[in-house]
Amino acid sequence: MSRAEDERWMREAIALARTKGSEPSDTPIAALIVRDGKLLAGECNATAETNDATAHAEIMTIRAAGAAAGDMELRGATLYSTLQPCGMCTMASIWSKVDRVVFGAGRDDVHRMYFEDRHLDTVDFIRDAFRDDLSIEGGVLAAECAALYYRPDDDVPEEEQGNI
Ligand SMILES: [Zn+2]
Repeated sequence: MSRAEDERWMREAIALARTKGSEPSDTPIAALIVRDGKLLAGECNATAETNDATAHAEIMTIRAAGAAAGDMELRGATLYSTLQPCGMCTMASIWSKVDRVVFGAGRDDVHRMYFEDRHLDTVDFIRDAFRDDLSIEGGVLAAECAALYYRPDDDVPEEEQGNI
């Protein structure tokens, strides 16, 4: 898939994320799953709305895409996320059998509150996966995506830091 196509889908993901609001406290994180140039599913983070700690955008999207495809395996598909997937979502991506994971803002672009682990990183999980046909790329529209979130040095109230 071309960079231009990745950017087009990432723009859609950003627009979807913004439907939750424009403040970082609105948790504007969105993911899309695309196959053969068609959108299978797109969802936002819904943890607070559903009282479900696993309702990250990527998990929601994997569930919706599986339902749309009538298949739990999403081979040939690309998962786009406005933010580098956390460990849970990275593992879910591996299990979902998508071919590619493409994200916008990376770990270093945003506050540490978005990640559960101090050192383990999405990219390491994927590098170490049994699957050799899975790729991951970051930094697609990174600045636009990062602008949705708390920055590394922002003084985020502890009650908003979901990882502690
Ligand atoms: Zn996640």
